This record gives sequence, structure tokens and C-alpha cells, in this order.
Amino acid sequence: MKMKKFMACAAAGALLVSMLAGCGGDNADTNTATQAGSEEDLAYKVSDDPIELTFFYAGLNGTTPFEDDYPVFTEAARLTNVTLTGTVPTTNTDPYQAFNTMMASGELDDVVTANKSDFDQYAGQGAFIPLEELIEEYAPNIKAFLDENPDVKKGITSFDGHIYFLPRYENSGTAKGWYIRKDWLEALNLEEPQTVDEVYNVLKAFKEQDPNGNGQQDEVPFFNREGTMSDIYNLFGIRQNFSINEETGKVQYSKYVPEYKTAVENAAKWYAEGLIDQEIFTRGANSREELLGNNTGGMTHDWFTSTSSYNEKLQESVPGINFDVIAPPADINGDVWEDTNRTQEYVGWGLSATNEYPEETIKYFDFWYTESGKRLYNYGVEGVHYNLIDGQPEYTSDFLATDKSMTAVWNENGMALFIGGYKEFNAERQFMSEEALVGMDLYTNNNYIKDAFPSLPFSEEERKVISDTLPAVQSYMDEQEQKWIMGTEDVNSTFDQYMETCKNLGMDDVLAAYDSAYQRYLSN
Ligand code: CA
Repeated sequence: MKMKKFMACAAAGALLVSMLAGCGGDNADTNTATQAGSEEDLAYKVSDDPIELTFFYAGLNGTTPFEDDYPVFTEAARLTNVTLTGTVPTTNTDPYQAFNTMMASGELDDVVTANKSDFDQYAGQGAFIPLEELIEEYAPNIKAFLDENPDVKKGITSFDGHIYFLPRYENSGTAKGWYIRKDWLEALNLEEPQTVDEVYNVLKAFKEQDPNGNGQQDEVPFFNREGTMSDIYNLFGIRQNFSINEETGKVQYSKYVPEYKTAVENAAKWYAEGLIDQEIFTRGANSREELLGNNTGGMTHDWFTSTSSYNEKLQESVPGINFDVIAPPADINGDVWEDTNRTQEYVGWGLSATNEYPEETIKYFDFWYTESGKRLYNYGVEGVHYNLIDGQPEYTSDFLATDKSMTAVWNENGMALFIGGYKEFNAERQFMSEEALVGMDLYTNNNYIKDAFPSLPFSEEERKVISDTLPAVQSYMDEQEQKWIMGTEDVNSTFDQYMETCKNLGMDDVLAAYDSAYQRYLSN
């Protein structure tokens, strides 16, 4: 009886989860989605007979090639009757080469994980199936997700108007914040810097007044592990890389706007005065370990979760260290804003044209957007990786008690992979320190964070203009920037010539290609 009722309800086409709650009828415990009972087992089956699909997942964005025995996917297979079999050797370390090899062979796996640009490029050749009709017919949860997130829908829509993949989506925007040695500010009797002049004065004091107290001017006032000056340019009103000009609505590029002159002129001055790490372009990924570890680094702009971890890590070797978040200093125009945003990566999975089970596969994809699928994706298997406390998933203490990074423990269980999935920030919060949460909330609650640059649906021609032109312009820009920062060339007397050279190298064509893709994006 129960079964019959259930099927009738399903036929009505309501969203699965709300349907289960609404159709519980005579059941007292209608919160079925939170229970691993038989109804749930039936709810997500996409086929009576087991289906096996080959799966290309080469380990994008720091994850590793798919392993068939990931607990998360074993559980998904139990619920849906669909098993994915990875085809990329787990020893593979070059995801792009693996992808190119598969595409060149012409023999595609049933389900393929790739970047948006890869889907765009190969969909034009018929390699992947357009998903809109399958979604409309068989995937109510994906449809609801896309209806609720029109920007995501725009972002995954290809230049031909079709959708070829479903993305890994993150429901939080926060990425980086400004960090400063607050114990040094205190030692020198300084306030948290709130303007560009105050940043300059604080960095100057860090340089000259020996806040680490060892009698030497060994402090490195500002540093950045990514080897970029873009944080400093932010203070002069410039967003990094490509962005939308808020006045003209056109695409612009950070190192090809008139304001860049003032920004790079000041950055060069700060560098010459020793306020910026003299090795900023080369010090590399371990800059925080190095410069916080030896008690010389004063200020940076970096990811919240990891940067907030140093106070605890270094509490014995650098007594009293308080490397903590401040609000973004106002830029020279008086605006307070944060440039970085956890942009949607637009990596995800699609169906190859040779997949014999498109209907079942889209239903399987849909499972990952149900409440149960989302929970499995973010928290793993109930009773193994998490428990429900007051109805909310909380990782077990065993799961959180790890020396490995959050991303590493997710990866080894098959959580939060770069498939079509909904990544809930609440899962990450459980790994974060109180300090990191406070810092992040400061940025979120004050709306400092600017919109990310959208993922654009380039046509083949636009892609060609960009790939033929942009690398050479960018390398010229980087070379010239280093000359200016290092002081081997003067900004004021060479800037006009620089802009002219960028133009001659084709930068206006690149921006035109971006603009036409942006107009297409807006109309999607
Ligand atoms: Ca010192």
C-alpha cells in the first residue's frame, strides 16, 4: 500500500523531497529524506536493473582520479542502482593530457567531467548531448536548482544556447581577506589601517620600527604567495584580470586601463622603499609558512580558512602572534570592497553522445541535487562520516580529527568532487577556526565582496582571437610590470608607449571578443 501511494505521488511530478514530506499521509515520521529507510531506497532508484556507466574523472582542481570504491559513490550506487566505473588510472597526474587523449581517441566514456571551455569546444563537434530537454523531462531537482540560480544557468549555457554539463556549485562567495599582524600594530601603537595612506604608514612603520623586536630591520611588511601585485592595485581602484567597468558596462582588463598608471607607479614606490616583499614575484606558495614562521611577515591578502590557521600553528614558535583579519582598506576613491569572490569554477559533468542511458544518467545526475544527494555529496555517509544533530548534519569528531587538509579528506572519501554537485559552505565551516569565521562574516555581512567576473560563452571565433593574441600581450604586460616594479624603467615616461604596444599586440581585439561573449551571456 505504502508503495502504491508513493508511486502515485511520484507520478504527480512534485519535487521528490517535498513530495515525500507532503505525501507521508498516515506516517507520523514523514521526514523521510533524513531516514535511511526503505522508502528512501526506492525514492532514488533510476532503474530496476543495475546500470554501469564508464566515468572520465581525471582529478581536476587538485582532486585525484576517480576511485570506484569511494564510500560516497558506493552509497549513491546503492540508492540509485547506477554505478560509475572510473577509467583514468589513479596514477595519472595530468588531467588535461588524459582528457585530450580520450577526445583524440574518439571513444568517450559515458559520463565525462571537464571544464566549461572543454564542453564548449567539443560540443560543437557533437561529442556531448544537449541536456535541456532531458532536464525538463526527467530532472525536477536540477530544473529547480537552475530556476533558483539564473546566473548559474547563464554561466553554463554554451555559445549555441545549449547546456552540455552540470556544474559543481558553491553557495558561498567569500574567498580572500586582508590579514595583518595585530600584535605588531599594538606594539607600535598603531590603529588598523582604513585608507591607502594609513596602509602606507603602517607598512612603513613595520619596516622601520622593528615590531618583531630583534633589533634588525628584517620585517617584510607586505607579501603575497601568488606573486602578484593585484592586491596593491585594488587599493588604487583596480580589479584584477578581466572585469566589467561599472560605468560603461564593457569588459576591461586590469593592466590595460588608464588608472593602472597610478597603481603601478605607487606599487613601484612602495617596493623601492622595501614595503613590499623584494622577492614577491618568486617567493612562491610557501610565503606564509616562511615569513610568518620566521616572524617577519606583516600583512597579506589571502584565503580565510588557511590564513587563519597560522596563529594556532605558530603559537609556540612565534609567541603572541596575532595574524588577523581587518576590513578591506578604502581605495583611493574612498570605496571599501573586496575583489575576490569564490567564483563558480564551472567544472562539471556531461553525457557523451555515445552514452546509451541518457534518461537514466540524467536521473542519476538529478539525485545529486536532492536533499539526500546534497548531503551525501557534502557530508558523506550518515553514521560513518556524519551524524544528524537536531536535524543538521555534523561531521563525526573522528572525521574532523585529521592532520590532513579538509580537501584531502573530502577527496579520499569521494566528497565534494568536481562533478555536478551542490557544495554547501556549512560543511566547510565545520573545519574552520572561530577566528576564520569571524573574519569571513565581517566581509559577508558588510557586503564588501564584489561580483565575480562571469564565465562567458565564447564562440569558436572569439576563442581563436583570444588564444592567438592574449598570451603574447599578457607576457609583455608582465615583463613591463616587473621592469617598473623593480625600478629599471620609469612608469611616468613609458606608460603611454606601453598602452600603445598593448594595443598594437591586439588587446582591443581581445576585449572585443570578451565583449561580444559578455553580450551573449547577458542575453542567455
Ligand atoms: Ca626586526
